Amino acid sequence: MKPAPFRYRAARSLEEAAATLAAEGDGAKLLAGGQSLVPMLNFRLVRPALLLDLNRIPGLDGIAETAEGLSIGAMARHRALETSSLVARHFPVLAAAMPLIAHLAIRNRGTLGGSIAHADPAAELPMLALLLDARIHTHTPAGPRTHDAGSFFVSALATALRADEIVTRIDLPFLPPGSGWGFEELARRHGDFALAAVAVTLSAAQGRMRRVRIALMGVGDTPLRAHAAEAALEGAAFGQDAIAVAVAALRAGIAPHGDLHASGDYRRHLAGVLAARALAAAWQRATAAA
Ligand SMILES: Cc1cc2nc3c(=O)[nH]c(=O)nc-3n(C[C@H](O)[C@H](O)[C@H](O)COP(=O)(O)OP(=O)(O)OC[C@H]3O[C@@H](n4cnc5c(N)ncnc54)[C@H](O)[C@@H]3O)c2cc1C
Repeated sequence: MKPAPFRYRAARSLEEAAATLAAEGDGAKLLAGGQSLVPMLNFRLVRPALLLDLNRIPGLDGIAETAEGLSIGAMARHRALETSSLVARHFPVLAAAMPLIAHLAIRNRGTLGGSIAHADPAAELPMLALLLDARIHTHTPAGPRTHDAGSFFVSALATALRADEIVTRIDLPFLPPGSGWGFEELARRHGDFALAAVAVTLSAAQGRMRRVRIALMGVGDTPLRAHAAEAALEGAAFGQDAIAVAVAALRAGIAPHGDLHASGDYRRHLAGVLAARALAAAWQRATAAA
């Protein structure tokens, strides 16, 4: 398939990009890594009048440490996150997930902002944004805007972004010192979108779990937090009983769709299995760090 005809423009600044978006309205599409957008163009699932390329705008791809956490430019490539020493030091759960996203050639082009804005329900980065309480910063003609990851993902491939908003950076607040993490996913082949994944962070104090966060993907139209399971584990002693209660709460709180790869029931079961493994790994790391 070939895309429907479109015009192309490479913006040189955020201001130029915003002005162009404002002038073009819904007819324009932003181009980041192109790894999701170009296949959609080729299948004619989207037919923009204008492709507005963000790749020539300087300063959108940094990964910087601030007093509060990491500040990552929207155009930071997946591969840059995968190989960043700052990401490895402060968010090893993110570093661990990166090699599981697609293939190296795709990770060389795909961007954090593109993945967040695309909001594929089976994508790792939106799930990690939710897990890590990311703040998503945008540039709009009316000035900067900030979204909490918790209210950003609205439905499959739909976010709180308006048509004139450009994601500029994503801030990840530091986790409490000594946090443990776990990341588990199952894909049929390496590089495929996973059937489901679970990511966990938690702290260990006096043999009990604290500040438990559990995020899921592939089991709903958006990435999800397993709030009931988190609440069940908060302050509980780590052990099979606590995990069983949390897994039951997690499974009761999701209603995955079936598709040609797996039934909804399989995905629900899988999410519980992955959650139990991710919680065990997070606990082990947290107690080793305590
Ligand atoms: C074969 C294959 C396998 C893949 N497997 C996985 C996988 O396992 N896991 C996974 O998570 N992803 C996977 N992907 C998707 C990949 O990670 C994409 O790179 C990513 O989803 C989109 O990033 P991008 O920079 O390429 O965005 P693009 O394709 O350029 O854009 C995607 C959408 O986001 C919008 N957009 C882009 N940047 C911005 C911005 N700064 N502000 C506002 N809107 C913006 C675009 O207008 C477009 O609508 C796969 C892709 C392919 C082709």
